[in-house]
Amino acid sequence: MTTTGGEKPIAFLDLPAQQRRLGAPLRQRIDTVLEHCRFVLGPEVTELEERLAQWGGVAHCVGVSSGTDALQIVMMAENIGPGDAVFLPAFTYTATAEVPLLLGATPVFVDVDPATFQIDPANLRQRIEKVRSDGILRPRALVGVDLFGQPAPWDALRSIAADYDLFLMDDCAQSFGGAYHGRKLGAEATATTLSFFPSKPLGGYGDGGAILTDDAERADLYRSLRTHGEGKTRYEVLRTGMNGRLDTLQAAVLLAKLDVFPEELARRDAIADAYDAGLRGVVTVPARVPDSASAWAIYSILFRNSAERAATQERMKAVGVPSAIYYPLPLHHQPAYQPHHDGVALPVAESLSQRILALPIHPELTDAEVARVIAAVRG
Ligand SMILES: *Cc1c(COP(=O)(O)O)cnc(C)c1O
Repeated sequence: MTTTGGEKPIAFLDLPAQQRRLGAPLRQRIDTVLEHCRFVLGPEVTELEERLAQWGGVAHCVGVSSGTDALQIVMMAENIGPGDAVFLPAFTYTATAEVPLLLGATPVFVDVDPATFQIDPANLRQRIEKVRSDGILRPRALVGVDLFGQPAPWDALRSIAADYDLFLMDDCAQSFGGAYHGRKLGAEATATTLSFFPSKPLGGYGDGGAILTDDAERADLYRSLRTHGEGKTRYEVLRTGMNGRLDTLQAAVLLAKLDVFPEELARRDAIADAYDAGLRGVVTVPARVPDSASAWAIYSILFRNSAERAATQERMKAVGVPSAIYYPLPLHHQPAYQPHHDGVALPVAESLSQRILALPIHPELTDAEVARVIAAVRG
């Protein structure tokens, strides 16, 4: 593709450049696995679990096959099923809502904060009260999603979960590497789920995920569930589980990436600051959750309306600058979920989906490319 400036298009995610940067240590990690051939739950998985638990400040980490499977295992462990209401933001990736439905439970969509895009505690209380007064579903669980790299409002979520006796979990698929009140994300809820999909801040080269918890009994249950509900031996089946194990090759890639993860997070943060400085006043730049650090999975700006967004996106495309919309539809308007929604308007999520636009923010972006992105948005 040629652009009007004749410049090379910028990548939204640059995995070839990332591989070059990771270099020999990555190859070495992969070669070691090819030598020992313990491809599923091999020694690198155990090593990764230890390092992730340490990073997240919890006692236990269970490596699993994806962020979605991590959510499923955690909900299966709580016996979440028919008749249960699971509260979650309407403005998130589909997986958060899909899992309760797969288990026969009902997702209850909650509106989000217009500035931080995180779940709105005031609306959450209203949604819980409505489920209680309707008297059909039992409020069971609350999934806080750390959206785009920043933390959900955990202080409020913990107190609401306590008030209504809800199981509290953290869908941290996008935000591992971020921090809240000076503490790295990973220990905000009873269980925290991670995704290593290649586009996440800590991404592997395939599917993968993990569950963090301080609870030893739950960790044992998660280990059992990820391997078909096995007991003390492989041939004792204690419960209905699934095949939710983590590949050793993915763990090997992630171990190489963990070594450079702090530098990558710093680079993402510097890019976010540069975007803020270059775009403030032109568009709405993302508000920072107070007293937090973002993993910057996604850097999203806001326009006044969808026409302005479409025009800017076109102009950017013409000069080789990519962008993406997370999320073009709030979940309660998705065809798959709309029939399970009570019809209540969630105006902030609905408005954001019309006005939001994500800019590239991977660590491989050069300063010159960041300047090009800013220039293209400014027009
Ligand atoms: C990516 C993502 C998931 C799912 O993770 P996978 O590893 O792709 O299954 C779940 N929740 C959120 C918020 C995500 O962004």
